[in-house]
Parts: sequence; C-alpha cells; structure tokens
Amino acid sequence: MLKVARTHTVNMKKAHTDRTRPGRSNGSEMDAAALSAAVIQWFRLHQRDLPFRHTTDPYAILVSELMLQQTQVATAVSYFERFMDQFPTVQALAEANEQQVLAMWAGLGYYRRARLLQSAARKIAEDYSGVFPTALVDIQALPGVGRYTAGAVYSFAYDRPAPIVEANTARLLARLFAIRGAIKSTANQAQLWKHAEQLLPAQNAREHNYGVMELGALVCKPVPLCDKCPLTRWCAAFQTGQSTTIPEIAAKPTKLRRHFVGIVACSGEHYLVRRIPEGEWHHGMFEFPSVRVEHGQTAAQHLNALESMTIGTCASLRDVDSFAEYRYTVTNHAVHLLVYKANALPAASWPESFQWKTLHEISRLPLGSTQRKLLDLLQSQDDLLAVIR
Ligand code: SF4
Repeated sequence: MLKVARTHTVNMKKAHTDRTRPGRSNGSEMDAAALSAAVIQWFRLHQRDLPFRHTTDPYAILVSELMLQQTQVATAVSYFERFMDQFPTVQALAEANEQQVLAMWAGLGYYRRARLLQSAARKIAEDYSGVFPTALVDIQALPGVGRYTAGAVYSFAYDRPAPIVEANTARLLARLFAIRGAIKSTANQAQLWKHAEQLLPAQNAREHNYGVMELGALVCKPVPLCDKCPLTRWCAAFQTGQSTTIPEIAAKPTKLRRHFVGIVACSGEHYLVRRIPEGEWHHGMFEFPSVRVEHGQTAAQHLNALESMTIGTCASLRDVDSFAEYRYTVTNHAVHLLVYKANALPAASWPESFQWKTLHEISRLPLGSTQRKLLDLLQSQDDLLAVIR
C-alpha cells in the first residue's frame, strides 16, 4: 500500500512570489516519486490526442477547462476549436459582445460558464493589460476559477506544481488511499486534496496532473480496469479487494419536475422570439416565448398564461394548435416543455426584449439546444412547404 511523505507544499502566497520549495523528507517519499514516474510513463504511452493538450497558452487552457466542466470531452473538443477560432486571445474575448459569446457556447448548456469566462477575460484585460497572470493566487481570483481550475491552468500552462482534484482524479485517489464514505464530504475532500498535493512531483507537474486525470478517465473508471493499471502495487483498494466498492456511490437526488409551455407565434415569415431576462434559466439566450405552468393545466389555461405573462403585449393569436413537446434536464430539474403554434397579428409596439425575426435570423441568435431543435423543426417544415408551393 502507498505511504506518502509530504514532498512539497503549494502555498498560495509562496506560489505568488515564486517560490522556494519546501525540503523533501525521507523514506516513503520514494513511493510517491515512483508512483508519479509510473503515471507519467503511462500517460506518455496512452494519452488521448486532445487539442487543448497541444497548447501551453493559459487562456486556451482556461477556455477548455471551463468547457469540460459538465461536458463530455468529445463534445468539448469541437466547441473548443470553434471558440478559439472566434476568440483566439484574451483581448478578443474581452471585447466581444455577450451575445456573440453565448452564440459560440450555444448547445453546451450551463451558460453561466460562458459569462464567467468572458468576465475573466475582461479582468485580465483590465487588471493585467491582457497578459494572463502567472501566480496561482491571481489565477484563482479570476471569475469562475476555483481551486481545481486554477491548479489545472497553473500546471498545464506553466508546468508548475499545484494539486488538482476533479471527478476522475477524486475517484482514483479515493481508491489509491482506500478512502471510504461519501467522496464529496468535506472531510474526504480535504483528504483528497492533501493526497493530490503529496503525490505531486517537483518536476513534470504538467504530465503528472494530466496523467492522473487520464488514468481516472480511461482506466480507473467507475468500473475500474485494474488489469490495465500501472498503479496496482500502490493501490490500497486493489490490494484489499475494494476497487469496485470505493468510492461509495451517493444516491442521486430526485429531479424536480418543471412544466413549461411555449408559443411559436408566426406572422408571415417572421416569428416572435424573446431574449431571456436575468433571473431565468439561460438568461441572455433567446427563445420562442415560454412560461412556467402547473402540472395538469388545460390548453386554455396555458394560453392564458402565455398571453398574460409574455406575448399579450406583442401580438394577438389565432389558429392556435399544439405543435411539439420536449423533455430535458436543467441542473437538477426534469423539464417538460409543451409548444403551441399560432398565427399572430403583431401589436403596434412591443417590449424591447421581444423581436420579430425570420427563421434564418433566429438561427444566428444564441439558442439553447431545445430551442435549436424547435428551430430545426420549423425550418424543415418551411423547406417542405417551399417544395409543395
Ligand atoms: Fe483504480 Fe484499479 Fe488502478 Fe486502483 S488498481 S487505481 S482501483 S484502476
């Protein structure tokens, strides 16, 4: 089993002023060094070819790290490349308008990440003249950057030692040290961070951290592939037959149900869309207007809700019919969206947050993935009608 000595400490203040490294201790330290060497050797042979690993640009790494939160790697790759084409530098992102940024993020979900990323870029532009900070403490002070993201940027971009703990490393470390109990408990999180720090080598922090994450992602998976793992001789869970019972899986909280109704209000070639206001999910994005309703309400009640809460000031509706239905998840909510379609007679004026646009114009707005599906459905019907005509 693995015993580690404290090889060094990443102290935020010391990191800031760069940084003498605490002395090494004796004996079991060799275990940590050997383990790290095994991780790095494995990583060099088995790492996936991911575009954000080809760069040491801290800005690009920050973009990728924020994208990878809550998003599968394969999905994040294509978004990352398009985002970097559009906003290749901190300055470019800082100067963009929020709508452009949200449009590039559309479909990834958790749009708060995009806004925080732009806030970070603006802070770097204003406080650091556009030059990405090099001190760990300054990186962690950027909007949207927590301890993990700061450590990732610091080690991946500058190859300097900072511990990282995210989902994959947490699972691997919990098994290496046979940590039982809820992995997210405060006490266990503290243990995981302590172990991540103890295992960090003095050199090659970049490859070590990448390697630990990659091992967690590809080998020490929820169902671990111990026969492919280079760490079995150090792994307490493996040695004691607990590989499949650590970490303990917490029961998933039941999702809260939310019901919404939406309206596709059509006036000739123009459709009514709404910029989602602050305080609502996906604010800053656009949608075909929708409102939350109670479960079990009638179609008449749905229309009342739509007219009184959203489009009543924009248009009067006729020929209303049900059109589409979607079920999806937002954070811990199970959402049911029922969409109606109607012909609309626009009012003389309407609130600023509403706009009448063609389908082509709407396609260029920042839309969430369900709204994008709804738009695709409308465009396919439009294409069909054009063929019939
Ligand atoms: Fe994970 Fe198995 Fe490797 Fe231990 S030996 S780190 S449980 S894959």
